[in-house]
Order: sequence, then C-alpha cells, then structure tokens
Amino acid sequence: MPLIVQKYGGTSVGNLDRIRNVAKRIAKRAETGDNIVVVVSAMTGETDRLIQLAQKITSRPNHREMDMLLSTGERVTIALLAMTLQEMGWPAQSFTGRQVGIVTDNVHSQARIEEIQADRLRDALSKKIIPVVAGFQGINRNSDVTTLGRGGSDTTAVALAAALKADLCEIYTDVDGVYTTDPNIVSNARRMHKISYEEMLEMASLGAKVLQTRSVEFAMKYRVPVCVRTSFYDRPGTLVTEEDVEMEQELVSGITYDKNQAKVTLVGVPDRPGIASTIFEAISKENVNVDMIIQNVGQAGLTDLSFTVPQTDAVQAKTLLTELSEEIGVAEVLVTENIAKVSIVGVGMRSHTGVAAKTFTSLAAEGINIMMISTSEIKISCVIESKYTELAVRTLHDAFELGADRPPAKEPA
Ligand code: ADP
Ligand code: ASP
Ligand code: MG
Repeated sequence: MPLIVQKYGGTSVGNLDRIRNVAKRIAKRAETGDNIVVVVSAMTGETDRLIQLAQKITSRPNHREMDMLLSTGERVTIALLAMTLQEMGWPAQSFTGRQVGIVTDNVHSQARIEEIQADRLRDALSKKIIPVVAGFQGINRNSDVTTLGRGGSDTTAVALAAALKADLCEIYTDVDGVYTTDPNIVSNARRMHKISYEEMLEMASLGAKVLQTRSVEFAMKYRVPVCVRTSFYDRPGTLVTEEDVEMEQELVSGITYDKNQAKVTLVGVPDRPGIASTIFEAISKENVNVDMIIQNVGQAGLTDLSFTVPQTDAVQAKTLLTELSEEIGVAEVLVTENIAKVSIVGVGMRSHTGVAAKTFTSLAAEGINIMMISTSEIKISCVIESKYTELAVRTLHDAFELGADRPPAKEPA
C-alpha cells in the first residue's frame, strides 16, 4: 500500500471547523487503503502570538526557553486533530517531535535535523494507527526541545517522508500550488504544474515561503516527490520533482521577494588581509546568515563593507560588530532595516543573456533604485527600498510576461 505524508499548515488548522475539514480529507484518503502520516503546524497566528508574549518579558529571550515555548503551538493542534479523527472512528494518535525520534543539532530556533529514529512511527503504521505528528520541533542530544526555524513543519514532513521512504509528501496550504510569484501580491500570477527541485530551492531560499528552504533540500537529496496543494478545494497542485524534458523551459520561471532583510555597513574598515575573515567568522559563530557582500575600493588603507543579514538577526549582528569594531579599528557600524530583496529565478537563464539588463531597465522605469545586486547562473537578486517591494514584483512579473489569464484560487472567506 502506498505511504503518503500529508502536512497541514497553520491556516488549514486555524479553527475547529478547519480541523474537521482536514480530518475529513485524511479519512477520505485512509478509506482508499493508503497509509498516512500527518504532520501539522500550530494554528494560524499562534507562533507569532507566543513570540510576542516572550517579547513582553525580554527583548533577547533565551533561545532554549524560546524553543520550549514555541513548540507548544504544534502540541495543541496534534491533540485536537487526533481527537477529531478518533471521534470519526479512526485510530489516530498524536506524537511530539521527540516521540517520533527527530534528533537535531543544538542550534536553538534554527536547528537542523541530524537523524530520525522512526521505529515508533513504523510501529504505529503497522498497527494501522494514523500518526499525527507535531511539525517544526525535535530534540537535541541533551534531550532539550529544539525548533527548526519559521515554516519548519514543511521540513518535518519531507524529512519524515524521506526517513519512511514514502511515495509522496503532500504539503497542504492556503494557496493551490506554487505560483510564478506570490499570488497574494500579483493577482494574475500563474500556477505551475511542475517545478524542478533546483528552481524550487532557489525560489524558497529567495523568499517564496510556500515551502521552507530546508524542506526542499531534503526533498532534493532524498528524491522525495512533493506536491503543494490547498486543503480547501480538490485541485491538483504543483509537483516538485526532478527536472525533466516536459518541464516548461521558461527563461524566467518566477519572481520572489524577501522583506526579512537588513543591510549592515561597516565604515572605515582597515584594508588588510585577515580583517574580513575576523568579521565573518564572528558573525557565523552566532549563527547569523550573511547573504550579499559588497566591499568598496579602498582609499588610504580604509574601505567600507556592506552585507545583508536576516532582519530578525540585525540587532544581534549590530551588538556583536560594535564590540568587535573597537578591537579591529572600524569607525562605525550602520544598520538599515527598510530594505527588501527582489529576485528573478529561472533555469533558462543559464543559456540566455539579457535578463539582467531587462531587470534593471524595468526597475529604473518605475524609479526604483537598486542598492545591491547579486547573480548566479539561475537567479538575479536586487536589494531595494522595502516600500517598493510590491511594485517591483509586479513590474518584473509583467516585464517577463509571467501572468495568467485567470486569477488564482483563494481560500474561502
Ligand atoms: P502554511 O501556513 O500553510 O505553511 P505559508 O504562509 O507558510 O503557509 O505559505 C503559503 C504562502 O506562501 C501563501 O499564502 C503565499 O502568500 C506565499 N507565497 C509566496 N510566494 C509564493 C509562490 N511563489 N507561490 C505560492 N505561494 C507563495
Ligand atoms: N508554527 C511554525 C511557524 O509558524 C512552523 C510552521 O508553521 O511551519 O513558523
Ligand atoms: Mg509555511
């Protein structure tokens, strides 16, 4: 019998009616005889609510305590969904991350899964129990609760699918697939039938939050087919899979944006060997991800260095760089938070030129200034002022003619 892992996101389990709707979907699938493992997120808004509670106590909450707090959101939904299924006569059981053996590293709030000891899940499946697993959480080797970063339930689902060698991992969310850009911003965005792991990885890492980046990394590494679908209607969704000849070889396949960005500028950095390594080593020790880096031409032995970090890490980066700047002789540390990164993704760009020129011309025509640029063979990213994000996304989506005739499907009111 096929084994399917189904993940339901926050909006899909946002209230009891929606939990009942999800339970009906699971039951319909179970009736066909398929083995099902269910992964759920916290109810929509719950993780944000818990973060705000912690911030009322301290602006720098302890990471271990934060993970303990945030992991509770998913515990609520697993229990409620398991009860609903039981009421409908199905032998469901809820499991925390720890109970299904999800072992991670020690990086609280951004933990990586190192191992899955899935014996308990296999045992439940062999007894025809429907396991309902808490997404987004695991434990480290000290048995402390860890969480996998925002959107981490996607990664729980794909990692379990890989560990159990499932036939398919279905990600149920509030949109009916992966679109050429965020359908909540561009009304004529087009749903893709299929997308390659490589393109999806690029789109996710550049801000398309429909799948967490690490979930796509797992899917690609273990060749797990992933289908992104809506839990509100019966629609086919988007298959994330190996690149094949049938796939639309578009020059540009999607536009993404990421507002969780901040620019850090170090003014008057000594221009000598070893300084950059000292700076970036200190940042990486704090688990802050640095993205685009620009160093100006040096003058009189000094240079300026700018780079982007997630906005959520900007305060931490500024604190540690201010301490370090005295040691290495940097004049000033500046942080700009009102920036966003807009990117164009497409494997077709490998063999075509002109995409960069068209991107810059289109943004210039709207009076949008580009502060930083970075490219790879399948993407171009520009940092702009965040107030222009939506305009930039729509402009580029139009410029590369990515739109569809029909508006995308929305969740019911
Ligand atoms: P869930 O709570 O189900 O995990 P998320 O909010 O994490 O849902 O992800 C779904 C959202 O991703 C959509 O509502 C949409 O706004 C956003 N999104 C961003 N880019 C895209 C894209 N290219 N295709 C589809 N959705 C996208
Ligand atoms: N509840 C977590 C979050 O809001 C994990 C998830 O939804 O995937 O980020
Ligand atoms: Mg999500």
